[in-house]
Amino acid sequence: MAELFAVRNLRLCTKDCLCLYVCPTGATDTENSIIDREKCIGCGRCAAACPSGAISMVPKEMPPQQPKSDQVIDALRVLIQSKNQAELVASQLPGPLAEAIRRSCRLMAEDLCREAGYMLPQSGNTRALLEHLSATEACAKELADSLLSSLSFNEPAPAAAAPVEKWRCTVCGYLHEGPLPDDFHCPRCGQPASVFVRVEE
Ligand code: SF4
Ligand code: SF4
Repeated sequence: MAELFAVRNLRLCTKDCLCLYVCPTGATDTENSIIDREKCIGCGRCAAACPSGAISMVPKEMPPQQPKSDQVIDALRVLIQSKNQAELVASQLPGPLAEAIRRSCRLMAEDLCREAGYMLPQSGNTRALLEHLSATEACAKELADSLLSSLSFNEPAPAAAAPVEKWRCTVCGYLHEGPLPDDFHCPRCGQPASVFVRVEE
């Protein structure tokens, strides 16, 4: 079984300090809210004691990213696009419920991106993204380098792929990646391929 350590969700923590008193190593600090990874032995007592469900036990080493078939990834992409479309529709409606739906659609689209295999910690894709940020984004370099040195990646960064064509819908701004067939229609606003312009990078 993977070695575990405890993490605290600050939004759920009610600071009653039960975790502080059950921890055998003094790893949980309710003053600064940080659980010390160096001291945590992964016993799970804090998570079991916490009345708010604020502590989770997570593996120190993530499993390698599982390969997904093109069919599954294509299905996830279609679902992501449908969430994008729903987000756009909700953003044009008034009221707090519409705003809640807009945010919910965004969240689900982000989860689907993770499911599609692009954002797993310790994966090769994450490593490639951090290396790219370190090399190209001055403001993100320090953070990217720090993550690169502290994460134990379990697979190499994938070989750099050939540049992908990108097309922008001039009506709604939707960004399409890959070849643009003549019969293509914008999944957001339904406009034909003729309204798309190529994005030069
Ligand atoms: S037991 Fe849970 S709610 Fe209480 S201080 Fe610890 S993390 Fe926060
Ligand atoms: S898992 Fe155990 S050692 Fe780690 S913080 Fe919780 S109680 Fe302390």
